Order: sequence, then structure tokens, then C-alpha cells
Amino acid sequence: MSQRILIIGGGMAGTSLAWWLGESGVGRHTVLLEREKLLGQHATGQNAAILRSAVTPWATRALAHETGRFLRHPPKDFSDAPLLKERGLVLAEGAEGDPLPAWLEDHLEWNAVESITPTRQRQLAPHFNPEGERCWWIPSAGEIEVARLLERFAFGARRAGVRIETGREVVDWITSSGPERRLTGVRLADGEELEADVVVVAAGAWAPSLSARLSIATPMRVTRRHLMVSAPAQDVCSEWPVVWDDRAGLYARPESSGLLVSACDISEVQPEPLIADPDVRQLLAEKALRILPSCGDLSMAHFWPGLRTLTDDDVPWLGQDAEVAGLFWLAGFGGHGMSVCAAAGQLAADMLCGHSTNEELQAALAPSRQVAVAAPL
Ligand SMILES: Cc1cc2nc3c(=O)[nH]c(=O)nc-3n(C[C@H](O)[C@H](O)[C@H](O)COP(=O)(O)OP(=O)(O)OC[C@H]3O[C@@H](n4cnc5c(N)ncnc54)[C@H](O)[C@@H]3O)c2cc1C
Repeated sequence: MSQRILIIGGGMAGTSLAWWLGESGVGRHTVLLEREKLLGQHATGQNAAILRSAVTPWATRALAHETGRFLRHPPKDFSDAPLLKERGLVLAEGAEGDPLPAWLEDHLEWNAVESITPTRQRQLAPHFNPEGERCWWIPSAGEIEVARLLERFAFGARRAGVRIETGREVVDWITSSGPERRLTGVRLADGEELEADVVVVAAGAWAPSLSARLSIATPMRVTRRHLMVSAPAQDVCSEWPVVWDDRAGLYARPESSGLLVSACDISEVQPEPLIADPDVRQLLAEKALRILPSCGDLSMAHFWPGLRTLTDDDVPWLGQDAEVAGLFWLAGFGGHGMSVCAAAGQLAADMLCGHSTNEELQAALAPSRQVAVAAPL
């Protein structure tokens, strides 16, 4: 008899895990609980949908690389329409003479990056005037079809027997009495209690408050970042690549005949209420004029805030809790949750089913890992 697994959270992380558990044959023993009426209403529905593997922490890179593979060659059920638009990424960072970025070596090994001259950069992205002095071309990066991917994960999970229940909020834990700290289930907002052998916290920005109820300190900070989509603009070409200036803090990609732009703003917030900061509109407009000058004065059609849950080392928390038996983490995805979703779900499912996994990767993601110094926001 398989163990009964409860997943808290129907964003991309929890839904991907549900699909992989279904694939592993334990769907009928899995329940996913989402407090909203629909899946994917928080960070999963608020993001820029960019697949980027060129990031500093190697564990995050490894997951993003695998997720890219999944999106390019998805299983049969997913392949009726593409999950990834490979527009490529022009990435500007650093200054000449700076140490080479941490992600470069494996990207060279994967044959996934090219160092480019300013002339080539202007050919690829004529609208981009970066402050970062070194430019790289990463052709396999792109734009993920988030809604389709989420829907396919949920569809496949349900078909494999996973019960996905929306409008079901977990408000408390049920623990066993005894010398060992062990979770035995959860209590829902309507008072119902559900038993479980393992509870997976895939609750995004609510992971820290859920852990606080167990007196577990999580090194996670809930932060807000804004995105805007401009009104349709004649000068924008829908085939442009993603452009990202790590030095100036700006990224952009075509969206709905205009541009989707972030000023890479960051502030620590409570997850609720999530309110947009009007000052960021100004910051966005200023940065866009500087870094995307040929696009002119982009008028904003949509502007919204989203939640990113950051860990101290920018690596997700994935694995069994160090103190409480029966508690498993799948949270802290920061700004990488779309880029790593498929591989993170697969790894978590393998661990929960006792299949052998990459031990080095598992150790790098383990909630029990030691983080030397927290990175500043
Ligand atoms: C502005 C912005 C831009 C971003 N751009 C990118 C990008 O380009 N590429 C990329 O890879 N990543 C990006 N991200 C990050 C990405 O969106 C997140 O890492 C990812 O969505 C996290 O997914 P999740 O499933 O962990 O969280 P969520 O999507 O937030 O899902 C958590 C779910 O848990 C539910 N929940 C919470 N508490 C409970 C409870 N008690 N009971 C039941 N359900 C509960 C919530 O309702 C929610 O649906 C961006 C994020 C933001 C904000």
C-alpha cells in the first residue's frame, strides 16, 4: 500500500509534482489542495514566463536545463501545441575584466551560449542598449506557455487518479503526540481533517506562515516585483528575443504586440494584501527609456505586482524537513519557478516514491543545507 500524500498548493510547483506522482503510479494516493477556486492564481499567474538557465546557483541551473529539455520534448499528452517559444535571450552583464559568470562553464559544455560583439547584439536585438558590457546569446532560452503547461499537468494528474480539490484551504497541522515530531495530517478552513503520511508544502508565498505554525524557521523572504505590458507599439517586432540587462536590472520580451518589461524591483512584503507600488511605474518608464530607447515612451496597458519567495541562497527548498517527519518542502522558487518546474516536480516525486535520484542535487536542494551568508535583497 502506498503512502498517502497531500500537496498544499496548486501553483506550478504543486501541480507539476501531482503530475509526476501520477506518472509514478501513485496518483490514487495523492490529493492536491488549493485554497483558490482555480489553480495558478498567484505567482504562477503573475510572472514573465521566461525560461532562463543562466543563473548563479548550479542546482537551479541544473533544474532549469532539465526543464528546458522537458518543454522542448514533452511527453505525448503535452505535445498538441508547443510549450516553449524559443526566442533566445540576449543577456548583458558585468564589465570587461570582471570574473566570468558562474553559469558560463556548463552552458559552454551544453553548447548553449555564445559570447557576442556589440554589432551582433544590435543585429539580434536592435532595440536593446544595455549597461552591462558583456553580452551573451543563449538561443535555447525563451517564453514558456504557462497556462497550457499548468493545464496539461493538472489534466494528466487527474487522469492518473490524483484528486485536485480547489477552494480548500489548509489552516493547521495535525501532529502525533510522542517523542518524534511527526505530521499526520492537516485541518482545513471548514474544520475537516485529512490524514496523510506525507504533507508537501508547495504553497509559494504562504510557505513561511505555514512553517511558522510548526515553529520551524524557514529562510524564505516573501518579496514583490512588478511587471508591465505596454500598449501595442508599431516599433516592436514580435520575433525579438528576450533581453535582460543584469547590470541595469531590466528585462523585456514581446507580448501582445507590445513589450512586457520588468525593472527588476524588489521589496519585502506580506503576501496579502498585494498592492502595486505606483513609484515602480516611474522607475520602469525611466529604465525603459534608457535601455530600450528605440521603443520610445511605451505607454502602459497593464501593470501588476507579483510574489517571489526567495531563499537565502536563491536555491529552492526541496526535500524532507530536517525536524518534522512527514513534512516535505517544494517551495522557495524565487524568480525561477517557471524555469525549473518540470525538473523540480520530477525530483520531488522520485524522492517521495523512493526512487534513486541525483544525490548531489538532492543535497544542494535539501532544507537541511547550511547557507553561509544570506544574500542581500
Ligand atoms: C513578477 C514576477 C516575474 C517572474 N518571472 C519569472 C520568469 O520569467 N521565469 C521564471 O522561471 N519564474 C518567474 N517568476 C517566479 C515564478 O512565478 C515563481 O517562482 C513560481 O510561480 C512559484 O510557483 P509556486 O507553485 O511555488 O507558487 P504559487 O504559484 O504562488 O502557488 C502556490 C499556491 O499555493 C496556494 N496556497 C497557499 N497557501 C495555501 C493553503 N494554506 N491551503 C491551500 N492552498 C494554499 C496558493 O493559493 C497558490 O495557488 C516570476 C515571479 C514574479 C512575481
